[in-house]
Amino acid sequence: ELPLFLQARSHALAEPHKPAIIDKTRNQSFTYSELLNDVAIFKAQIEQFLQPPGPVGEEPRVAFLTPSGYDYVVTQWAIWASGAISVPLCTSHPLKELQYTISDSGPSLIILHPSFSKFEAGLREQAPTIPLITITPFSQAPPSGGRSTSLLPKFTNAFSLSRRALIIYTSGTTSRPKGCVSTHETITFQAQSLVDAWKYSRQDHLIHVLPLHHVHGIINGLTATLLAGGTVEMHPRFDPSIVWTRWSERGTSTMFMAVPTVYSRLIDHFDGKIRGTECEAAARRGAHALRLVVSGSAALPVSTKRKFEEITGHELLERYGMTEIGMALSCGLEREKRIDGSVGWPLPGVHVRLTSETGKVITSDGQDEAGNIEVRGPSLFAEYFQREKATAESFTDDGWFKTGDVAKRDADGAYFILGRESVDLIKSGGYKISALEVERKILGNEVLGDVVREVVVVGVEDVEWGQRVAAVVTLRDPDKSPIDLKTFRSYLKEDMAPYKVPSILKIVDSIERNAMGKVNKKQVLKRYFEPAQ
Ligand code: ATP
Ligand code: MG
Repeated sequence: ELPLFLQARSHALAEPHKPAIIDKTRNQSFTYSELLNDVAIFKAQIEQFLQPPGPVGEEPRVAFLTPSGYDYVVTQWAIWASGAISVPLCTSHPLKELQYTISDSGPSLIILHPSFSKFEAGLREQAPTIPLITITPFSQAPPSGGRSTSLLPKFTNAFSLSRRALIIYTSGTTSRPKGCVSTHETITFQAQSLVDAWKYSRQDHLIHVLPLHHVHGIINGLTATLLAGGTVEMHPRFDPSIVWTRWSERGTSTMFMAVPTVYSRLIDHFDGKIRGTECEAAARRGAHALRLVVSGSAALPVSTKRKFEEITGHELLERYGMTEIGMALSCGLEREKRIDGSVGWPLPGVHVRLTSETGKVITSDGQDEAGNIEVRGPSLFAEYFQREKATAESFTDDGWFKTGDVAKRDADGAYFILGRESVDLIKSGGYKISALEVERKILGNEVLGDVVREVVVVGVEDVEWGQRVAAVVTLRDPDKSPIDLKTFRSYLKEDMAPYKVPSILKIVDSIERNAMGKVNKKQVLKRYFEPAQ
């Protein structure tokens, strides 16, 4: 049986009143035994829609669209308990994207939360043969008193699982989203590896603000915390003022995880609304009281790290991972294991190597030699769903997964991500330039750091140079401190070699990001640098 369910049972028995989930939308909390009970009840309902298990590899899929909250967890666990593969849909997707995910994953059942009823007609129309059910929020019993641990015996019978567990669609940053299939073993390993490295425990209380259709939110946030017996406080979306309020209350919250843009919004909110007010001390103290604050999914600007540290005293812990591999590299809990610009070392049980362009393994550390990141071990996904060719192409002959990301290692073996080979490695005049490095330098520049709010560096095709380095920026205060290319370049000349300094500057009002706060650089190139046809 799934270790997650077994653990949940022992957490329920050990601390019967301890909340597993605090649902901020419903303003209700749910214990581990309530969770398992609702799972057992909903499982039976789901099973009515599933064919008897077919041959291996043909396990039924169940797609679901639920806001981040208790109903999400019950639904996902019930899908697992019924022996089906869970396909979480993205709550911020428009109908067309939802339809793409559904037609790609071919579910036997679609589960819709009432708050998304506006999609019902569109989904039914696209897939008239797939049953669609709308759930009523689980455990709508009175919030207190009514429910008790006497429910425990109901969930003593074991659930039988499928081998494959979860299809997560990649962010679609580089191409159409691909369905990454993970097994229960993969998920458990990914979560356990983090529990071991970051020491999650029953005392932990996570303020969860991330979307739940990505590893970051599903595995690092939700699954690992529940595996360890902690409490997950689920917010429907990220709101900086709510997070600051929760931290300021100095309650029991111990952990926070997010993407870099969330941290810069938290910093902006603090600077604009809290600094200099009577709330400042409590906010700083509350944030400082956290045990662990993690950043990942995209490169963390060192300037963001510094500002967050000035406010909270916390040096953000940065890690690197992707849908296909879970988390692979992470800085350590100890202060000296957090290095600016680095994502740290391989997590327990994860094997990571760098290979050169010719496929040779780079063995020397600290040579500044850039290589492709390849990963092996039990944390790897099983396959891209119904994409045999893409799956085969993503592995080396000796079974390592090719991430498509490039990094270098310092003398202590710590990894520094240089970016995606396809969009972040700019080839200009015979040089290879890391876009992420240039972005970091711009945000870290003494003057530009205060002028520029966001920056995206891309390589623009050029007859003479192959590619030219271009910076697309948004400004903090376009009226008060505008900037032109010449001044922009003059500030950067101190910080980097001349060939790295952007020769194109594009100032824009806003930079589009997906639900995970990521920028699609191919779209940026298309939008700003390709002549309209
Ligand atoms: P798609 O595969 O559809 O293009 P995606 O790769 O953005 O989308 P994810 O699997 O969610 O989808 O993201 C993984 C990628 O995010 C990694 O390959 C890497 O490029 C980037 N990434 C993750 N963590 C970090 C980090 N700490 N620093 C820099 N980049 C990171
Ligand atoms: Mg990817």
